[in-house]
Amino acid sequence: MNSSPLRTLVTGSASGIGAAVAARLRSRGDRVVGVDRVSTDSESIVCDLSDASKRADVVDRAAAMLGGLDAVICVAGIFRATPLADRDLDSWRAIWAVNLEAPIDLMAQALPVMRTQGFGRIVTVSSVHGRFAQRDCIAYDVGKAGLDAATRSVALDGARWGIMANSVAPGFVRTPMSLNADGVDETDTEAFRTRYSEGGLLPLGRAAHPGEIADAVAWLSSRENTYLTGQIVTVDGGLTSTF
Ligand code: NAD
Repeated sequence: MNSSPLRTLVTGSASGIGAAVAARLRSRGDRVVGVDRVSTDSESIVCDLSDASKRADVVDRAAAMLGGLDAVICVAGIFRATPLADRDLDSWRAIWAVNLEAPIDLMAQALPVMRTQGFGRIVTVSSVHGRFAQRDCIAYDVGKAGLDAATRSVALDGARWGIMANSVAPGFVRTPMSLNADGVDETDTEAFRTRYSEGGLLPLGRAAHPGEIADAVAWLSSRENTYLTGQIVTVDGGLTSTF
């Protein structure tokens, strides 16, 4: 098996799960270019991924920096409540621009590059919201369900060229995204303790650390993964196994 280090693009690399993924992949030897709206290091690209014109050359730029591109990990995302009654389509579209359109566009940009190499690994970071609804989350739920569908489509397209695509769907993860408006992490609240930890709706009783999501991403995006494609891999401490 080819053992040369993978050349990898990671979006959302400035925070939370994306930062953990970048660190995990670097620790196994990957050469990583991060993409985020804020700068992390000299090996990163600053880009507002919600803007189609700004993200149009992101994959080409990363491939030029790395001398090719073996893996693309789409982690960047945003969350905000979107009550259905508000019918605030601008707000919904802003979520879809980052969570859905950007990863679809980056995967489409990556496929021709990976095709010429006859190898590619793509991992998107979805959510349990891709399969299950939460009140006031219609835009986030629809975006993640669409991302799951898009990842399967890319897996079908890429299979003939040695490209495999999967999604990791986390449940609760302690990151800046899980902070409530008052700055308290949602998994530190009394409501979380009563409902999920002690109430049993979350079998493992605690949120994931970002590194635990990064571990799943790392394997799916590795050369060791030779047969798993087109799948949504749920990493949620058992959350979606209960009712
Ligand atoms: P985070 O807020 O810590 O990190 C998100 C990153 O995405 C940040 O670095 C941010 O700058 C970047 N980003 C956001 N909008 C961007 C844009 N327009 N252009 C470029 N970069 C942009 O959040 P996180 O918890 O690490 O979330 C990462 C992914 O995991 C998201 O897709 C999220 O939906 C998903 N997720 C998170 C949780 C959770 O509980 N934290 C659970 C399930 C899924």
